[in-house]
Amino acid sequence: MSDCLFCGIAEKRIPTKVLREDASTLAFPDIAPVAPLHALVIPKRHLAAWRDVDDPQLAAALFAACAAVARDAGYDEGGYRIVANTGADAGQSVRHLHLHVLGGRRFAWPPG
Ligand code: 5GP
Ligand code: ZN
Repeated sequence: MSDCLFCGIAEKRIPTKVLREDASTLAFPDIAPVAPLHALVIPKRHLAAWRDVDDPQLAAALFAACAAVARDAGYDEGGYRIVANTGADAGQSVRHLHLHVLGGRRFAWPPG
């Protein structure tokens, strides 16, 4: 989708530091980090939300990419959080599916 911010990043029309990339996913730093590690992991093809995920292998690839980003950043042992805000009530602000990978500090539970 030409007017989608994260499609622009996935297609490299918008320059971004790439943390990890494979055939179906891309990981890059969040522009407004809320933790020492704050990466976003997206499918390269446009999917607006989880209801649109039609391929279990893509879901597995997204979570594997999250784990790899956390491991690469050194948070595998200490712990990290994977978050997917989905829909308005959860605070989703970009309508291209994405997972936040957060690490490097303690996180409250339940989330606020
Ligand atoms: P959401 O609020 O939808 O769960 O997460 C969207 C995330 O995208 C936010 O954490 C926000 O900081 C991040 N973001 C918004 N615009 C950009 C951008 O242009 N580049 C990057 N790298 N992150 C962005
Ligand atoms: Zn998109």
